[in-house]
Amino acid sequence: GNQQRAEANILLLGAENVGKSALTVRFLTRRFIGEYGDIDSIYSHSDKIDGRDIGFNIWDASYSQGGDEVGHIGERQLQWADGVIMVYSICDRASFNVVRQQVQRIRQAKNKLSGAVPIIIVGNKRDLQHRRTVSSEEGRLLALSADCGFFEISAAETYHGVLLVFHEMFELIREARALK
Ligand code: GDP
Ligand code: MG
Repeated sequence: GNQQRAEANILLLGAENVGKSALTVRFLTRRFIGEYGDIDSIYSHSDKIDGRDIGFNIWDASYSQGGDEVGHIGERQLQWADGVIMVYSICDRASFNVVRQQVQRIRQAKNKLSGAVPIIIVGNKRDLQHRRTVSSEEGRLLALSADCGFFEISAAETYHGVLLVFHEMFELIREARALK
């Protein structure tokens, strides 16, 4: 076995108000607080997967960092990231379009590395079914077409779904590293 501690740099992207910070805080503390600031920051968190210590570094990127351009992704962010989680809200169609744009940008990037970076698309706020405007099928199809993972979750309701997303992200990063 590998005695080294594995590290994974995970970048969270998506429109404002979709629950990126809620997801991050849920993973870090298992709790849902309700209100979050909009601070662009990187959090470190240790977790055990199959008995192995994993160091997660999570960049909860502030949407305003992108400037005027819709869906802008910084070069520095992409160079840093081993994997990307793209979040939209199932009751915010505009946020789904942001994810669609961001996925295309990353997949079409000239940089070969970023073109192959593992991506998971997350439809959040699944508890708000009555306000849903993006179907599960649309989310799943987008993910399929761009070779991304896909989950629908509620950061407000459960810890479990959030945990699954981060663990699957780590698994995809591990696979991508094995191919290098
Ligand atoms: P961010 O701008 O993407 O970081 O979004 P936040 O994490 O700040 O969340 C925006 C708002 O949506 C806050 O009021 C959260 O409490 C709320 N929120 C986040 N996740 C969920 C969810 O799964 N369900 C519901 N109902 N509200 C959520
Ligand atoms: Mg936030």
